[in-house]
Amino acid sequence: MTDRGPDERIVLAIHGGAGVIARETLPADVEAAVRRDLADALTAGGQALLRPGGTSLDGVEQAVRVLEDSPVFNAGRGSVFTRERTIELDAAIMCGQTLRAGALAGVTSLKNPISAARTVMERCEHVLMIGAAADRWCAEHGAEVVPPEYFHTPNRLLELEEKLLAAAKTGSEIEPRTSSIAALTQDHRFGTVGAVALDRAGNLAAGTSTGGRSMKRSGRVGDSPLIGAGTYADNASCAISATGDGEFFIRVCCARTIAALVEYQGLSLQRAGEEVLFRKIQPLGGAGGVIILNRRGEAAFPFSTLGMYRGFLTADGRIDVQIYREDSVP
Ligand code: ASP
Repeated sequence: MTDRGPDERIVLAIHGGAGVIARETLPADVEAAVRRDLADALTAGGQALLRPGGTSLDGVEQAVRVLEDSPVFNAGRGSVFTRERTIELDAAIMCGQTLRAGALAGVTSLKNPISAARTVMERCEHVLMIGAAADRWCAEHGAEVVPPEYFHTPNRLLELEEKLLAAAKTGSEIEPRTSSIAALTQDHRFGTVGAVALDRAGNLAAGTSTGGRSMKRSGRVGDSPLIGAGTYADNASCAISATGDGEFFIRVCCARTIAALVEYQGLSLQRAGEEVLFRKIQPLGGAGGVIILNRRGEAAFPFSTLGMYRGFLTADGRIDVQIYREDSVP
C-alpha cells in the first residue's frame, strides 16, 4: 500500500469476526445490524481516540466495548455458549509503545472484558488472569459485574442446541461446520471482535474480545487473550487483532509472527498477514482473518474465509464498513 496523506491515514480499524459470510445467505436485517454496530464502534472509538489527549488504547477500548454490548457479535452480550451451556469470555489489550499488556480468560461476570483487561494491564502485576479469581480481582478493581444471563441471547442458545443435536446424531465430538441456523445468519463459529488504533502521538494499540468458539469445552482458552497469538501491538512494527480457528492461531503465534515478518523481513502488512494465514494456518486446516495497522496509518485486512466483518476510520473522519471479499479494499 502506498503512503497515505495525513488526512487519509487509517487511525482505527476493527473486525467483527471472519467466517462463511456470503451475500446470498446473509439476511438483510442481520447485514444492516452488523453494518450499524460496526459504524457505531468506529464512531465511539474515533471520538475517544481523536479527542485532545485521546490515546490508541482509548480508541481500541471504546470501539470494542460497543461491539461487546451488541448482541450481533460473539463477544460480551451475544457470546456463544460452551457445550456445558455456560458463557466464558476471553479478552486482551496491548500497548504498542510500552509493550504492556493485560488479558483475561474464562471470565463469566464482567460486562466489558476489554475494559477489565485494560485494568489488568494498568493495575495488576500480571499479564494474564483466568477464571473466577480473575472475575473477582476485576470486580474488586471497579469492573462492572453482570449476572450470567446478561450474556445470553436466544439465537446463540438455539445454535448450540442444534449443534449438540447434530453432534449426537453423527456421534461426532467435532462441531459440524454449518447448521441451518448458522447458515441463515452467519457462520457462528467465529464473530470475535477486535480493534487496532493509532493515536496522534504515533502510538499503536490492539485489543480483541470473544466468547471463543461455539461448542467449546468449558475451560478452553482461544487465541484472543494470548499475547502474540490473537493480539499484539508494537510500535516497532504494527498492531494486530485476529479472528478465526483459535487453536491454529495459537500454534503459529499468529499475531507476533506477523509483527516479526514486518519488523525483521520488511514485508508489507498485507503480505505478512497472508503469509501467516495462507502459508502457515491454512495448510494446518485453519481459517480466519486479521486486521493490521502500522504507524504510517496503513492498514491491511487479509482473510482466508469467505468474508470478514470489518471497518476503518481515517484521520479526516471517513468511516468505511466492509463484509464480503468483493468489497473494496482501502
Ligand atoms: N479466535 C476465536 C477463538 O478461537 C474465535 C473467533 O475468532 O471467532 O476463540
